[in-house]
Order: sequence, then structure tokens, then C-alpha cells
Amino acid sequence: MIRTVGILGAGQLARMLAQAGKPMGLEFIFLDPAVDACAAEYGEHICADWDDEDALRKLGQRADVVTFDFENVPESSARLIESLCPVFPPPRALFKSQDRLREKTMMQELGIPVAPFEAVSSRPELAAAVEKIGLPCVLKTRRFGYDGKGQQVLRFQEDMERAWQVLGGEELICEGFVSFDAECSIIAARGAGGHTVYWPLTRNQHRDGVLAISKAPAFSAELQVHAEALVRRLMDHLDYTGVLTLELFLKDGGLLANEIAPRVHNSGHWTIDGGCTSQFENHLLAICGLPLGDTQNHSPVLMFNLLGQMPACAGEETFEAATNAAIHWHDYHKTPRAGRKIGHVTVTAEGEPGLRARAAQLAAALGVAAELDLQSVLRDDGARTE
Ligand code: AMP
Repeated sequence: MIRTVGILGAGQLARMLAQAGKPMGLEFIFLDPAVDACAAEYGEHICADWDDEDALRKLGQRADVVTFDFENVPESSARLIESLCPVFPPPRALFKSQDRLREKTMMQELGIPVAPFEAVSSRPELAAAVEKIGLPCVLKTRRFGYDGKGQQVLRFQEDMERAWQVLGGEELICEGFVSFDAECSIIAARGAGGHTVYWPLTRNQHRDGVLAISKAPAFSAELQVHAEALVRRLMDHLDYTGVLTLELFLKDGGLLANEIAPRVHNSGHWTIDGGCTSQFENHLLAICGLPLGDTQNHSPVLMFNLLGQMPACAGEETFEAATNAAIHWHDYHKTPRAGRKIGHVTVTAEGEPGLRARAAQLAAALGVAAELDLQSVLRDDGARTE
């Protein structure tokens, strides 16, 4: 029986995994080089580098199963732990997702539609890729890019030199720019026996490359079936156990894959307050070899990411009363810093009209109403919620 879960990483995702696992009777042990890692409140924190072999062995010996909360843990570290105790998701999924070229190639081989792409490692290769793909296109670092970092959009020939100055010197990938109608993500959990469950396709809106809001449910049953088939193909191929997220672009009624995250995901935070079972609960159930929970919404829900610092309105009595207490604040206890993800807030309601009203009220209170396109995120594209 599994009592202790080890997590490589002790950020907010590990923190929310621990919050979900404590009532299940699980104990947690984390490995993270950050001295102020925010999950450390929930268990022992081994403060060490990702490739510190003694620390990795300690984690592998103390835990009954080990997982990770971010994908840039070296695959070799996950493999070392695997010699001591089971590691889920499989380290192979880490390997694939750590490099955008490897990831996109895998998706292409599996018949999952992606924007055209080319590997770029020199200035002439960039010119050839732009020639082949056409403008506009996006130049990205193959590794360590997240939240829009390590990316340059090229709209005109002249942009090539600027983008090369910023990113050249690293291994790159050039992708066709997708003028999408919407961004979405499908989050799925696959149990040890291969049984897979899917949360409703989530509509996402980013600002400056960072997720700003997520809404679920948001799309038709038809699109749901399509997205499920794509993520299922990936999970079966990787013989996956745990939660996997596939980020997608919706364009002209079809889906194009952007990237995968072999872990719980920011766009699934709504599942804590709006889902019958959260992504964190199901991830733990999957890696512990237990049956998975229902992934339907119990209420329509919208999540706002909180960046920089917690807003002053959090906890204000008048504000809570005005929204019928159907808002749920999550503070990750991280040191405030401009642009840093320090929390999120979700709003739920019995039906879509109620959600629209409360979401608008919450956006106004957060002071983000002007910068977000709430209308398009709240647009009902066939979701059956009422
Ligand atoms: P990523 O780090 O690949 O998830 O990219 C962050 C965000 O940049 C995405 O959520 C999109 O909003 C945007 N983006 C990334 N790749 C493309 C693309 N090929 N075409 C258009 N927008 C993109």
C-alpha cells in the first residue's frame, strides 16, 4: 500500500497535489533546489539539485512512489529513482516533452495535427525554415521554454535578424503561426491498468504568453470526443500513468496540438472547485494504482490566474457577500514578484448566466476586466451546462 508520495519539485503544483493527498492519508516528501519552495509546508523538503545522486536516492528510498511537478527534471534523475521505486508518469514522457522538436515529431508520427515545423540551429537554417513555412511564424527554443519565454514571432523578413539575435546560439524550432479561433486544453488521467478519464475541454486565454483565464465546460460534445482521441493516442503510446495535458489550438473547427505537459496543469486548476474529482486527486489515484474519480463538472467554472501579488480584494467581506461566496481563493504562499504565479481564484455558479455575472464582477474587482476578453472565453460553443 502506498503511504508516502515523493515529488520531484515543490512548487505550487506539488503543493496542490499534497493538499489533495493529505485527506487521502498520503504523506509527502519533496526534492527541490529552491530554499523557499512553497510545497514544503506539506512535507519533508530535501533541498538539493536535480542531479544530486544522494538526494535522489534518499527520495527513492523514502517514497513508495515518485512523481514530478515540472518537466525539466533530468530524465537521468527520474531513471535513477526508478531503480529504487516506481516513477509515474514514465520518465520517457519527460524525455519527449523536454524538447519541442522531439515532442512535435512524436505527435506528427502519431497522426496528431500540428502546425508545420522545422529544426533550426544556424542562421542559414532559419532563413530556409522561414522560406519553407512562410510568414508569420514563431521561433522557439527547443528546451526550457515556458509561459511564452524563449519565443519570438516573425511577421516580416526583417524580423529574422532580430529574432536570431535574441535566440540564436540555442537549438531552436520554427513553427507556423496559428491564427487560432481559441486556445484550449484537454486534461486526462490514465490509471495503471490503462483506464482513461478526461475532464471537459477547457477554454484558455493567455496574456503575454502566460495563462490568464480558463473556463470549463466550454465546447461541444463533438469537439470533446475529438480532443479525447488525440490525448488518448499519446497516453497509449507512452504507456502512461497519471495526468497528462495536451494544449491545443482551435482553428476553423479543427484542433492543432501545441504542446504536452506530462503532469497536472495550470489550465486544470478549476477542477478543484468545479470538478467532481480534481486533476490532483486523480493524478494521485492513478500513480497509487487506485480507481479514478468522475471528471465531470459539478458547476460551470472560470479560473483567473493571480500574478505578482495577491489582490487586495481577496478576503474582503463585502466582496465575498456580493458574489454569494461562490469564489474560491488559492494563495500559494509564494514571495510576491512581478509576473510570478502566486495564486488563482475560481468562480462557480449553478448555470452559465450566473457564472457570466459573477465572472464579470470578479474581473472588475481584480482590476483585469479591461485587459481580458472575458466575453470570448464565456462564449458557449455548445457546452451542455444548463
Ligand atoms: P507555448 O510555450 O508553446 O505554450 O506558447 C505560449 C503561448 O504562445 C501559447 O499559448 C499561444 O498563445 C502562443 N503560441 C505559441 N505557439 C504559437 C503558434 N505556433 N502560433 C500562434 N500562437 C502561438
